[in-house]
Amino acid sequence: MRGSPDPAHGPTAGLPKLAQPEWQETYGQACGTVGRPATTKLEDRPLPEGEPRPPDPQIFSLKTPTSIVRIAEIFRSLQGEGFLTGMPSVFVRTSGCNLRCWFCDTPYTSWEPEGEDFSREEILRQVDALLSAEGPSFSNSGAIEDADGSLQLHAGTLSKGEGEIRDADPDKKCRHIVLTGGEPMLFAELVPLTAALRSRGLHITVETAGTLDLPVECDLMSISPKLASSTPSAQRDARWHERHEQSRHVPEVIRRLTQDYPYQIKFVVDSPRDCEAAQAWLAEFPEIDRSRVMLMPQGTDLITLHGHAEWLKPYCIAHGFQFCPRMHIEWYGCTRGT
Ligand code: SF4
Repeated sequence: MRGSPDPAHGPTAGLPKLAQPEWQETYGQACGTVGRPATTKLEDRPLPEGEPRPPDPQIFSLKTPTSIVRIAEIFRSLQGEGFLTGMPSVFVRTSGCNLRCWFCDTPYTSWEPEGEDFSREEILRQVDALLSAEGPSFSNSGAIEDADGSLQLHAGTLSKGEGEIRDADPDKKCRHIVLTGGEPMLFAELVPLTAALRSRGLHITVETAGTLDLPVECDLMSISPKLASSTPSAQRDARWHERHEQSRHVPEVIRRLTQDYPYQIKFVVDSPRDCEAAQAWLAEFPEIDRSRVMLMPQGTDLITLHGHAEWLKPYCIAHGFQFCPRMHIEWYGCTRGT
């Protein structure tokens, strides 16, 4: 039924079957999104003119608030991961997640969610202010912009540590927006928000775990699938142990996102066993372009990252994957606002 939680997949999988208002409250608490005003069915919400209706009601079944987004932080920095490493970008970090990875590097958006509810207008106001302000740039971005403005993407360009950060470079205009989290796809308001960002001519990256779907405007869908090893232990949290495991893999969402958007896939790997799990995951999606798949070491400190890199880089070379360094941690450490 359109608009009802999909019992088999997505964030409601495994949740007790509740009457709708109770379900919304329970789910809101789980995602750290309680206290919001009225919710509506996504498919009943007015969409911007010309926007296509979701093609699959089973996928677009999540109910989320209509006009607000819970925001953990909005800041300007350099993209630290993936094809666009080094690109000056404004980051809009939403708060709330339908998963609970044990290694989450932004627990203030998942395990202990923080933030305030923002209107779309307020988000755009802050984004506009940061775009026009001076910010850091990088002397050797991972992305090379052609004369026509299109991007040639080169992952791993910075893996040898080339380039340097400049505090401010007025010649480097910031035209990139990264919608990240938490899980930004929790918020239906992302649809009109990305439409507004697109109308400003901005390049939009959406960073998602690939378990929820919305018909957003997006130039780079950055998907970080969660392998079995991401599941928190039952000792840490029995409820989230079960819920995370049941929700972390939604193949139809992965297929929709990779079919309809330019994409990159970033696996967080903590051990050689995770590399094998990533290979098994990919075997389920033969259509996915392997040149867009990256293996990224788990870790939020340099000792852990460099330790994993010692065995992960040779594995990537041997198996044809991109090695994805976490340059923002190299540059700034694991700190907010970077
Ligand atoms: S999906 Fe991302 S934000 Fe959510 S718990 Fe996992 S690492 Fe954290």
